[in-house]
Amino acid sequence: MKHANVAIFVPHNGCPHQCSFCNQRAITGRLAQPSPREVQNAAGIAKNSLRGNTKNAEIAFFGGSFTAIEPGYMVSLLEAAAPFVKDGTFAGIRVSTRPDCIDEEILKLLKKYGVTSIELGAQSMDDRVLRLNRRGHTAQQVAAAARLVKSNGFTLGLQMMTGLYGDTAEGSVLTARKLAALHPENMRIYPTVIMRGTELGDRYLRGEYRTLNLEETVQLCAGLLDFFEDQGIRVIRLGLHSSPELERDMLAGPWHPAFRELCESVRLLRRISAYLRQNPQLKDSIMIKVNPKTASKAAGQKKCNLAALAQLGYRAKIVQDAGVEENCFTIE
Ligand code: SF4
Repeated sequence: MKHANVAIFVPHNGCPHQCSFCNQRAITGRLAQPSPREVQNAAGIAKNSLRGNTKNAEIAFFGGSFTAIEPGYMVSLLEAAAPFVKDGTFAGIRVSTRPDCIDEEILKLLKKYGVTSIELGAQSMDDRVLRLNRRGHTAQQVAAAARLVKSNGFTLGLQMMTGLYGDTAEGSVLTARKLAALHPENMRIYPTVIMRGTELGDRYLRGEYRTLNLEETVQLCAGLLDFFEDQGIRVIRLGLHSSPELERDMLAGPWHPAFRELCESVRLLRRISAYLRQNPQLKDSIMIKVNPKTASKAAGQKKCNLAALAQLGYRAKIVQDAGVEENCFTIE
């Protein structure tokens, strides 16, 4: 069944925090806050365009601070969305928020209006990195909020960032381990993009900060993707969405329109290389069979995976075979 979320961006206008990387306007692509009527319209349009085929879909309030916005306004948005869940049109409502903006009372309220899934912006599990980037919460608060979300029966999503000020690739791996231990159902991984008008942007312009480059970030995130998926945790987003504002205000950073594909391609190369190491009987001329949907990832950007395999001494040919599972391969 087609799975199509209705995504509604709720920017946190007047947010009291000043996270080092945040340029809310550029990231969400809009500043105006949606009205309850807009929520109803968006859900109604999705319902009609999918001809009722929305039972797996959620109404998703994105923006990162849903439970920190003005309570009356928050409830008005939930009231607009709730009837679509109550009548079975949508499976539930998803919200994303800060770990320090979750408590039993809020969770009770969210449940009452049909919220089923909560994403917490953890970003890092290193208190030093959280402090340096002015997140205004601790790793302990992330863990406490995550446990509360799960024990109250919500689906838990966690978000982490790589390349923050003061962080390292090794630090991101540690963060990933600590987040996985909280047993989220899904993860979003956002490499830090340095935006104009942010503290990180100023640091970058003063030469005090550089984030990981694209190559370093792809290598890191390919490993994180593998790590989470190995534990049955879905990575539902890897990299920021494109938007005109992002492209306009981005000073530097490992942004790429097909970031996930780059990571999956590196992961495939690692798996193929490991398989070849374990099977030394395979000759230098090999045929790698992959699903047609995986073929470009297997070859790599500008055939870089084939070039890497050539360096290992293999003349590899990619053959498309619909019988092979996506993101898997067989080698002859
Ligand atoms: S990322 Fe930080 S500064 Fe930006 S809206 Fe969220 S809490 Fe506020």
